[in-house]
Amino acid sequence: MLKLLLAFAVAAFAAIPAGAKVASETPNQALADLQKAAQVEELPAVAAEVAAEPVAERFWIKVQAASREDRTAIATAGMAIEEEGSDQVAGTAHIKTIEKLQALGFKVTYRMSLQKLLKDFPSQDKVYHNYDRMKAALDALVSAAPDMVSLFSIGKGWQGRDIWAVRFNTTESGTAPSKKPGAFIVGNHHAREHLSVEMPIKIAEYLAAHRADPAVRKLLETRDIYIVPMLNPDGAEYDISTGRYQMHRKNMRINPDKEIGVDLNRNCDSFFGGAGSSGDTYSDVYHGPSAFSEPETMALKNFLDARINIKTINSFHSYSGLIMYPWGGKEGAVENAADLKAFQAMAGAMAKLAGLKAQQSNVMYVATGDCMDWAYAAHHMYAFTTELNGGSFYPGAAEIDKETPGEIKAALYMIEYSDDPRRAAADLTAAN
Ligand SMILES: [Zn+2]
Repeated sequence: MLKLLLAFAVAAFAAIPAGAKVASETPNQALADLQKAAQVEELPAVAAEVAAEPVAERFWIKVQAASREDRTAIATAGMAIEEEGSDQVAGTAHIKTIEKLQALGFKVTYRMSLQKLLKDFPSQDKVYHNYDRMKAALDALVSAAPDMVSLFSIGKGWQGRDIWAVRFNTTESGTAPSKKPGAFIVGNHHAREHLSVEMPIKIAEYLAAHRADPAVRKLLETRDIYIVPMLNPDGAEYDISTGRYQMHRKNMRINPDKEIGVDLNRNCDSFFGGAGSSGDTYSDVYHGPSAFSEPETMALKNFLDARINIKTINSFHSYSGLIMYPWGGKEGAVENAADLKAFQAMAGAMAKLAGLKAQQSNVMYVATGDCMDWAYAAHHMYAFTTELNGGSFYPGAAEIDKETPGEIKAALYMIEYSDDPRRAAADLTAAN
């Protein structure tokens, strides 16, 4: 195992999750292609050391941004904004995206090669779930409560890994339809957001462990609950595959120019290809060749299309400390006043329970192709996006325990109101 020390002035990148060894025994062709491509490209001065790393051309940058319009334009140029300040944003960008931003007149005040962020996997973080351990955790739930827990694949990633869904339903199992109101919890649209895998697993484990508690039992008997911890299994494995952290956000599509990946949360058919996403294959917010072009987003679409009994969704990301609701991909609030009230009531309550801040998705900037926007527009599902806390993509094992209790409460709340999300607003009014 390589030990690369991290000297990072901005965020405390504490620790790297996941298992020490990668499951796949087959050579990673995508990685090989990418390394080849990285070797022939001229490297920027800041990363002058010769490197055959896929991250060689990608940077952590800070850009001056005084307004929401600036932030949207910066995201549209292809930067993945991860941190926002009053007058600047920080995040990841390809060297060509940096050039684009500069050509547009934006001031890039800081940049550091992502190579400098490469780290070893400290043993104390092995509690994070890689693909095999995630699958094993779901298998264990089925073994523990076969009368109400079942497991099935909703599709596969580019590299063939199954996207596993665990289901809690006391009367139906597997892919059999249910008339009960449904709730859906999903993690890991974005590969490097490993904490977003942990919360769905923790919620599933809580439901199974507490299935005899009267309150939990009642939810399990009256709801149809689906949990997909790892929507982007290929990307998640790639991020930890070399023993060194890749800071990889997208899936593992090999684009025609050999650049890797599509941003799954810019690829859904909701204002596809507009603001806050990029047509550049090297961009971290590359939206892909067409809406639902990716097997992972198509799996998500097929899954939800077939289960319109699902009324609520929580999609986990990290690490902005927010819970958000549509719209993300266009200006303004959702047009239906009753829906807006329900979104606000539920997001507000879940934020309180989980220690997050509730806001409309487009408050910081507009981002099109958002899968939660699509779920709401296509199926009237009350779809939330949770950005967990943690302050970095690799916040260490302790962050799991910090986030879990609040997220379990928020999940129970969401599952409870899945029969009629508008009831949340009425209950809130009655309580005030
Ligand atoms: Zn994300």
